[in-house]
Amino acid sequence: MAKEDLECSFCGRKKAETNLLIAGLDAHICDRCIEQAHGIVMEEALHSTNTELTKEMMLKKPKAIKEFLDDYIIGQEKSKKIMSVAVYNHYKRLLQPKSDDDIEIEKSNIIIVGETGTGKTLLAKTISRMLNVPLAIVDATVLTEAGYVGEDVESILTRLLQAADYNLEKAESGIVFIDEIDKIARKSDNPSITRDVSGEGVQQALLKLLEGTVVNVPPKGGRKHPDQKFIEVNTENILFIAGGAFHGIERHISKRLNMQAVGFSASKNDTILDRGNILKYIIPKDLKDYGLIPEIIGRLPVLTHMDPLDKGTLRSILTEPKNAIIKQYKKLFAMDDIDFVITEEALDFIVTQAVDYKLGARGLRSLCEAVLTDAMFELPSTEIRKLYVTREYAEEKLSKSTIKKLKAVS
Ligand code: ADP
Repeated sequence: MAKEDLECSFCGRKKAETNLLIAGLDAHICDRCIEQAHGIVMEEALHSTNTELTKEMMLKKPKAIKEFLDDYIIGQEKSKKIMSVAVYNHYKRLLQPKSDDDIEIEKSNIIIVGETGTGKTLLAKTISRMLNVPLAIVDATVLTEAGYVGEDVESILTRLLQAADYNLEKAESGIVFIDEIDKIARKSDNPSITRDVSGEGVQQALLKLLEGTVVNVPPKGGRKHPDQKFIEVNTENILFIAGGAFHGIERHISKRLNMQAVGFSASKNDTILDRGNILKYIIPKDLKDYGLIPEIIGRLPVLTHMDPLDKGTLRSILTEPKNAIIKQYKKLFAMDDIDFVITEEALDFIVTQAVDYKLGARGLRSLCEAVLTDAMFELPSTEIRKLYVTREYAEEKLSKSTIKKLKAVS
């Protein structure tokens, strides 16, 4: 057959009428048919039923969940315990057979209050890894009410679908971590006279998702393609975890505690307060005073807090978790046959710097980078097969790095 006579074996278009004609054994397919077939495959994947999925998540008991978390997260005992129970109950709820006793187990969505860098995201990530369910991490600050510049709350579910490779069933039992939830708090106690685009309106929009509803989700996100097909996502079995630093909430907590102290029950209640960690006394009312609407608080019934990271915790974070930063560097160097050893004094020095710079656990990584970059750059091209990092070495490398300059400025 002459080249120009070739045609698509599916739609019959001549080669000249196509952009691309791909040859098979004894058939041809054109670009348009490929696209159409791809659409069909995607559609099938979305609707394929996978009833074993929930069982596959295997009901680990709360203690086992906590043990898994212990491998990755240092300290934060209370949060790990509360999360283990909440996650266990959540997936038990999914497995419950339909019964006629009218007892409906409600969702155990979670809200975690704690300084940035204390491990809120890490908690959500570790839980999703353990359960092998998709996780979407979204930032509440980009969300706006429908119709305003920014992202609709539905975009959260687009992310989850993407994380689940568009497997609808997987997405519908996944986890959404909403970071910086405190940033959509109502700015004043006065229910607004002017429109509060990024605050209360967004909270209202979120409500529906949290309580469980069917949402039309644009699979590719955005509102720019009005003719894209929507996917119906049921949020009933999605576990929502919200996190935020809630700067200044200590004031609300202290105020409440002081009021209690002068109140009627003062004599019975005069336990000494841990002033260094006021967050641990948080109750839902404090979130309301901070500007979350009561309905949102009600939909996030499990409230927990993260402890501030002290020196000891930071030191453990460097070396103890399964994928601790130092273990990662050891592995990186080992790939070049380099034996990387760091002394206790050097580690202590790095921790002290992280505390000094108020960088939290995130700072540990940048500090290690600053200490080790020269070695990572030079050693692989030399014959040297051992790197021994002492406190003096770490000090010298840091004194030359830009991190040091940060301190000089601040
Ligand atoms: P947050 O979400 O609270 O701002 P992240 O979870 O993103 O904080 O923490 C930042 C990084 O700090 C994590 O990737 C992790 O390496 C480290 N980290 C923080 N807290 C802990 C902890 N308790 N145990 C182990 N690593 C931690």
